[in-house]
Amino acid sequence: MLEHITASEVAGYGVGALLLCATISAPKIDSFISASQRSSLGMCKKCGDLKLIACSNCKGSGSLKQGGAFNFGQDDISFAGDNSKMTSLSCKKCRSRGHFPCPECSKVPTT
Ligand SMILES: [Zn+2]
Ligand SMILES: [Zn+2]
Repeated sequence: MLEHITASEVAGYGVGALLLCATISAPKIDSFISASQRSSLGMCKKCGDLKLIACSNCKGSGSLKQGGAFNFGQDDISFAGDNSKMTSLSCKKCRSRGHFPCPECSKVPTT
């Protein structure tokens, strides 16, 4: 009787430890699989095969609004007031395209 209880307790503990192990390592395994799946499918890890990466400098709009001190999403104030100061500059980072070609997908030799 005593031995049976001990055995089932040990078995329960073992299963519990196994489940805990699986729970902890599951996210890591999942991300590892998705990453390897992408590469095995020929998809780009960087852009997911979009071949484009949105410009972080202009938030993908391709232009930067230069409105002096009131350039904080308050377009209405600038527009109602002196909008001659409100200039829209083309983003130099992405050449006003709003996105880059993915460096991983379009490996152009620079030399
Ligand atoms: Zn840009
Ligand atoms: Zn890419």
